Amino acid sequence: MPATISTPSSPTSPGHVLALLRAAGPLTRLELQERAGLSRVTLVERLDVLRALGLVRQAGHRESSGGRRAEVLAVDDTGRTALVADLGQSHATLAVVDLRGTVFAREDHRLALRHSPREIVPMLLDAGRKLLRQTGRADTLCAMALSVPGQIDHERGVTVAPPTMPDWNGAPLREPFADALGVPVLLENDANALAFGDFCALGRPAATLVGVKVGTGIGAGVVISGRVHRGESGSAGEIGHMRIEGSQQRCSCGRRGCVAAGASGQALARELRPLGVRTVDDVVRLVGDGRPDAIRSAEKAGRLVGTVVATMVSIVNPTYVRVGGAIGVLPPFLEGLRRTVESNAHSSALRNLDIGPSQLGENGAFVGLAGLVADEMLSPETVDAMVAAR
Ligand SMILES: [Zn+2]
Repeated sequence: MPATISTPSSPTSPGHVLALLRAAGPLTRLELQERAGLSRVTLVERLDVLRALGLVRQAGHRESSGGRRAEVLAVDDTGRTALVADLGQSHATLAVVDLRGTVFAREDHRLALRHSPREIVPMLLDAGRKLLRQTGRADTLCAMALSVPGQIDHERGVTVAPPTMPDWNGAPLREPFADALGVPVLLENDANALAFGDFCALGRPAATLVGVKVGTGIGAGVVISGRVHRGESGSAGEIGHMRIEGSQQRCSCGRRGCVAAGASGQALARELRPLGVRTVDDVVRLVGDGRPDAIRSAEKAGRLVGTVVATMVSIVNPTYVRVGGAIGVLPPFLEGLRRTVESNAHSSALRNLDIGPSQLGENGAFVGLAGLVADEMLSPETVDAMVAAR
C-alpha cells in the first residue's frame, strides 16, 4: 500500500521529536537524544529536516560536562503566523499573532454578533488581510482561529446560537474563511479560548484549570490534560444559562432564573440603570470609581457565579480557577466568587486550589487561540505531513 500523509507517524518521526522538544524543551541535543531514544545520526537527520522547515531554533548554549558548550534547542513558535478573531456581542477584535501568542497588530471593530454573518465575514476578511499586509507576515500565515460567545458544532464548523440570534444559528464560519485564506480555520467558544490562554500563560502545567469568563455574558472552560474539554455536544462549561433555584428573573435567552439573568455584565448594566449606566463599560467604570451601589452589585454577581463555580470545583477538582472578562476581573466580583467557592465547594477540592484573576487582559482570547493553533499545527501528524510534502 502506498504511504499517505494520513499514515500514523512513527514514535521516532520528525513530528514526534518536535513534540518531545515542545513538551520538555529547551534541551541540548544529547538530552533530546536520550529522551527520544534515537541514535545520534538519526536525531541529526530529524533536526536537519525540522530546521529546514523553520520549526527548531537555537536557544543559546549550556555548559556541559567536560567544559564544552552545548547548543540548546527549542521549538521555533515565532516564525509562523495566525490570524485570530474574538467575536463578541458588541465588538469584534482581530489580531495577527505568532504561535506563542505575541500580538503584532490588533484592530477593534464595533460591528459584531448583532449583525448578520453575511456582513461580519467579509468585514473580518478585509480587515484581516489588511492587518497581515501591515505586519508583513502574510507569507507565513498558517491558520486562522475564531472565538465566539456560544456553542460550536465542531464537526460542521458552524455556530449554535441562542434563539435571540437566529442569523447565527448554523452559520458556517469555518468554510468561508478557509476558502478565502487557503489555511485551516479553528473555531472555539470564547470562554474555552480564554481558559486555554490562561493555561498557556501558566506555562502549560500538568494540572487542571477551570476558566470563568464574565463579560456581557457568562461562560466557563475546562482544560484537562493539556486540552480543552468540550464535552459530547460542545457545551461543556456553558454555565451562564444554568438555572438558579428560586430565581425568577427573565434572561436574554427567554427563560427565567438563569445565572446570566442576575450576574452577567448585561444584567448588572440593567440593574444599575438608575445610576445612568447603559453598557458593561459603564459598570466597570462605576466600580473603578468606588461607587458603593456598583461595588455591591458586582460582589453579589460574584457570589451568584460562585455558587455554580463551587459545583464545578467539586466535580472537576481543578488546581487553578482563573476568572476573566470585563466583569470577572473586577475585585469585588472576584472576592464574592472566591468567598462563595470557599464556603460551598467540597473541602478536599479546596486544599490546593488557586483562585485568581486571568492574567491576560484584553489579549486573553488571542493567547488561547494562538495556543490552540500551535497544538494543531505543531502536532506530530501535521509536522510529519509537512515533512512528507516537502
Ligand atoms: Zn438564560
